[in-house]
Order: sequence, then structure tokens, then C-alpha cells
Amino acid sequence: MEYVSTRGSAPALDFEGATLAGLASDGGLYVPREWPRFSADEIAAMAGLPYAQLAARIMQPFVGQCLTPQRLQELTTQAYGRFAHKAVTPLRQLDEQHWLLELFHGPTLAFKDVALQLLGLLFEEFLGRGGDPLTIVGATSGDTGSAAIDAVAGRERVDIFMLHPKGRVSDVQRRQMTTVLAPNVHNIAVEGATFDDAQAMVKRMFGDRAMTGRFAIGAVNSINWARLMAQVVYYFAAALQLGGPRRKVAFAVPTGNFGDVFAGYVAAQMGLPIERLIVATNVNDILYRALTSGDYSAGTVTPTAAPSMDIQVSSNFERLLFDVGGRDGLALAAQMAGFEATRAMQLTNRQREGAAKLFTSARADADEMAHAIRWAHDRAGELLDPHTAIGLHAARESRIDPAVPVVTLATAHPAKFRDAVERATGQRPGLPARIGDLFEREERMVDLPGDYDAIAAYVAAHAVPRG
Ligand SMILES: *Cc1c(COP(=O)(O)O)cnc(C)c1O
Repeated sequence: MEYVSTRGSAPALDFEGATLAGLASDGGLYVPREWPRFSADEIAAMAGLPYAQLAARIMQPFVGQCLTPQRLQELTTQAYGRFAHKAVTPLRQLDEQHWLLELFHGPTLAFKDVALQLLGLLFEEFLGRGGDPLTIVGATSGDTGSAAIDAVAGRERVDIFMLHPKGRVSDVQRRQMTTVLAPNVHNIAVEGATFDDAQAMVKRMFGDRAMTGRFAIGAVNSINWARLMAQVVYYFAAALQLGGPRRKVAFAVPTGNFGDVFAGYVAAQMGLPIERLIVATNVNDILYRALTSGDYSAGTVTPTAAPSMDIQVSSNFERLLFDVGGRDGLALAAQMAGFEATRAMQLTNRQREGAAKLFTSARADADEMAHAIRWAHDRAGELLDPHTAIGLHAARESRIDPAVPVVTLATAHPAKFRDAVERATGQRPGLPARIGDLFEREERMVDLPGDYDAIAAYVAAHAVPRG
């Protein structure tokens, strides 16, 4: 399988190249040249496979010649062996129509582990073949950072520099990053920055020749294709359990950078019958506005109880615009340049109509989020984290045909956001045993000003150069 850039001028790469590169050199994102497709019979035959085998089956066409089927399955078995639930991503029923897909049984309690545990192994595999040592630079609103650090801590030939907006991640999220003391882990608290500011600095570093010439810079944000690929698997796993492919299923997805829900779109392109993908946002609602009125314009970020959704610029939306807009990379590059200059753009009619075939959107404010937490607690005895609650609110708002099961992606364990859950329900979720002594461990991080040059200088002083 070959990967092409959404902006049409970077060289095509194979899976290994796209995994190590992250962002394309023209500022675009890598996408497969075409979508592999499974027939309904092929999908039906996947029912009952253990998760790691299902994962290898679904990912093989994307990986192509870069890993043998046997090696791929060894890696998925190792990655998903670290999950605390045998089903890896179990389903739970809330009522006649609504289900939760629990994606938080990995080591750092959010769905990011599903992709990053595998990505850490893929890095190790590909770096072991030679080439330059890898310098991972990422920005996190909380969950990506901890999952990525867990996935690469102590691994050979890779350093990770993780930027988080100082004071804007929860205590659990911060400690999950800063208590990892492996020497290849570098936590940077960026002063006076939002997540979008931190992400913009990371993107700038990918385009900074002074940095990319000296260091092989890699990405763990969901701009990395391999992450989205790994997330496609649980859409298949859930649908197969609920009667797919013969029966359609809808999914409600708490959305920030549009990575998780884009994986659902990929599942649909691969042949999985999906009724609707419901894009759930909080009051930071650029995606809601884009999908309902075509207005993709960034406002200012409002901090909420669901920080992983406090995003105004959704990187992966570009992948959707590319695919539904006719895959014209140069036209999209011009459209994105306009957005980068003005922080606003209008979707073309073709993009709007293409997106509307599968996507709808709903947004939740703080009251609606708290109400959804209480509803799930009172009706089904489930404690939801704030992100999941926003997804459930959107699922219930969207008036899907009652015969169609609606699966809300439970993206984080409630203990990761204990204060918000306690405010809504009066119950404080306990930390699972696997991270029990988090609050006793030593922390290590540096504070840096929200200034690109300071951050680039820090990375340059601590990373291992090429060659
Ligand atoms: C990252 C994250 C999201 C948003 O996922 P995207 O792929 O960025 O849309 C939602 N909920 C939680 C808990 C997250 O960590």
C-alpha cells in the first residue's frame, strides 16, 4: 500500500515510511492511495476472532509488504496483551438502543492506548532495521501524552518530547506523563499556552528545516496514519458483536482532533455497514459548525471538563476534506493555506455533501454533559467520564431509527476525570489498581515559555541527531 499526502506534493511513501514520517513534507497528512475493501462475507467471517487476530486481519492491507502477516499478529498480540480486559474493547448495554464501547482498559486509561501501544512496537520494529534514531515531538491535551510516553518509555533509538499546556491537564493526566522517569522521556509544560498553541509549535517544527535536517522528527499525534489504522479495528469489533455486517450500527464519537471518528469513516470505506457517525463536540464546536453549516472557522478555546475535546483546529478533518472533495491535493493545499492565513474557511459544496452522507453532529454544554453522566448512572449504574458523556448526549440527541443500535465510544476511564464525575454524581471513581500509586511517585518535567525558539532549542539540546 502506498500513502499520498493530502496536499499533493510530498513523495508517496510505503507504510513504514508513513509511520516514521508522521506529517508529510508539504504540510499535509498521509492517507492510503485507495481504501482496501472487504466483502460482506469476508466481514461476517471475522465474527468471533480474538481482538489481536481481528486487528491483524483488518490492518494487513494497510501494512502491505512492510510486515509479514505473522509478524503483524505477533505485534498485535503483544500490544493488546497489556489491556486489563480480555475482550480489549468490551461493549456494555445502557438501554434498548444505546451501548458503550469501553476503550479505556489500556495502561493509561484512555482510548489512545489502543493505537499507541501498537505504534510503540511499530517504531521499535522499523527503527531496528537501521536508519536514523527517531525524535518524537508531540503536543497533548492530556491523554495522547501519557499513552505515547507509556508506549515508548525506555525503548531504544527513540526520544520523546511531549508538550502540554501548563495547568490545563488534569492531575491524573499530568502525573501519568511526568512520573515516567525513563531517560528518553522529556516532558515540557508550556507556559501560557493552549493545546492549539502547543500543536501549532509542533507542526512548525515539522516544517523547520534547521530541525528536520539534523533530527529525524516523528509524530505520535493522530496526524500519524498508523494510529488511525489501529482505531479502525474496534468499529469492526463492535459492529460484529451487534449483528454486523447484516445489521447497520451507528457510532457516537467524542471528538477533538477528528482522529477517532475518521477511523470510523475508514471502516465504512472498507465495507463495514455504518448507519451514521455522530460527531460529538463540547462548546469548542468548530466541527459541529463545519458539519451543520460548512463554516470551518476557529474561535478561541474555552477550557471545559473534557479537555481532550478543547480544540479549535482539528488536524484530521483535512483527511476527510481530501477524500470527500475528490482527492485533489493541490486544491486542498490552497484551501488549507487560506485557512492558515485567516483561521476560517468555507467547505465546498462537494465536501459538504460528501460529509453529510455519513456524518451528523451534536454539541453538549456543561449542563448537558453533567446530565448525561447522571442519566447513565441512574439508568444503568455506569459512571461515565466527561468526554464519554458528551458522546452519549450526542447519541441520544441524534434520533437514530430505534431499530439501529447506537454505540457511544467510551474514550476515557471515569477515574481520569474524577472531579467532574464527582460533581455530577456525588461519587468519586477510584483509580484502578494498575495505576494505584500514581500520587506517590516522583514527577519530572521542565517549564518553558510559549515561544517556538525556546522549545526548538530545548529539543535540539536533548535529542540524538541523525547519522
Ligand atoms: C483524544 C481524546 C478524544 C478526542 O479524540 P480525537 O481522535 O482527537 O477526536 C476524546 N476523548 C478522550 C478521552 C480523548 O483522550
